[in-house]
Amino acid sequence: MPTFRAPRGTRDLLPPERARFLRLERIAADLTALYGFRPIETPLFEQAAVFERSVGAVTDIVEKELFRLATRREEGEEWALRPEPTAGIVRAYVQHGMQTWPQPVRLTTTGPMFRYDRPQAGRYRQFWQFDVEVLGDPGPAVDAELIELAVRFYAEAGLQAPDVFVNSIGDSECRPAYIEALARYYGDHLDHLPPLERERLGRNPLRLLDSKEPAMAELNAGAPTITERLCDGCRTHFAAVREHLDTLGIRYEVEPRLVRGLDYYTRTAFEFFPAGARGTQAALGGGGRYDRLVELLGGRPTPGIGFGLGLDRVLLALESGGGAAAAEQPILAVIVGADPTATAARLKLATDLRAAGLAVRADLATRKLGRQLEAAVRDGARFAVIVGDELAEGQVQLRDLGAASQKAVPVADLTALLRRKAAAS
Ligand code: AMP
Repeated sequence: MPTFRAPRGTRDLLPPERARFLRLERIAADLTALYGFRPIETPLFEQAAVFERSVGAVTDIVEKELFRLATRREEGEEWALRPEPTAGIVRAYVQHGMQTWPQPVRLTTTGPMFRYDRPQAGRYRQFWQFDVEVLGDPGPAVDAELIELAVRFYAEAGLQAPDVFVNSIGDSECRPAYIEALARYYGDHLDHLPPLERERLGRNPLRLLDSKEPAMAELNAGAPTITERLCDGCRTHFAAVREHLDTLGIRYEVEPRLVRGLDYYTRTAFEFFPAGARGTQAALGGGGRYDRLVELLGGRPTPGIGFGLGLDRVLLALESGGGAAAAEQPILAVIVGADPTATAARLKLATDLRAAGLAVRADLATRKLGRQLEAAVRDGARFAVIVGDELAEGQVQLRDLGAASQKAVPVADLTALLRRKAAAS
């Protein structure tokens, strides 16, 4: 047993796994650039109140899962690690007066989120999200645009088309009556409610509908839905979102019981699941509209919408579908030498080749040539460049490690030759 281990619910991303994450991050960066999003980075921790106020006090995230940092006496402020990115980004939008920028403001970030959850398969205490936010656009077209972007991200990641669920959860005009209807319904079934849910009923009945408690599943299946209670504005908006999705050819299902766990959501809510595998632990991502959040954090009323896609979950889904492509790029060549101590010549050659943009490593261990070649093969390199006495005449040996063939090559031609080989693969 090692003395120290990564904290429970976290894990080290060792090089092969980190490469798979990086591949997803690259797809996200390329796609968002294509769609006109600008990258933003906010701190990994904020004043706890940013989350309490925006996510809502009566939520799992704030009640049970917020990673609160011990307050230092001299600071007197309470901080928490971010459980999701939207609150921090909206805090930044307000703080930096982004309302005065040309609207809408389209932002994206990818990074770790923290929730003090009970660790289990697919549920970590530190996990990664690819996130986009659009502020200052009331929709409905942008709602569909974001759903399409998420679907495209999954496709480029190599995932089978996910199941897309959409709903409208109303707004401040129609939701209160719905919440009353829900409160009446659960009130009639008080005996069946687990203690925590019973206690929540008085504070936020909507949370019960989103409950992860197995005991709630049956009860929730019979709960009233908001669909028939939507006000005219919300109904028209939702119909237009669906029309835009149809125009884009996005397949989706309306799920009237889809509510997002966070208080700040209004109108459009959506969630993605691996095809045919709907379960709480499997959600690939989700998002929705939050037209009240900017105001809640002290800004002018500004509509907003965003999504957060769980990268850990995408990789899990790829693995279970057998589709996890190896993302690590092996290096092209290793520079080895007949004289183990002649490290300067090997390092110089590697430096020149890298300056030309080729991925190479010099073997700088003073070990026998045979050992150096074995290590190159283990690295998955395609070539070994063997530096020997003939370097004095401007020659090296180029060994194709796969074919185990070898030929003399002038150093002057090496860059062009390796570049051709790299391009041919
Ligand atoms: P949420 O804001 O809870 O809807 O989270 C958005 C997405 O982040 C989810 O659909 C998951 O893919 C992912 N996610 C949320 N919580 C976790 C967690 N504890 N571990 C891994 N992924 C998570």
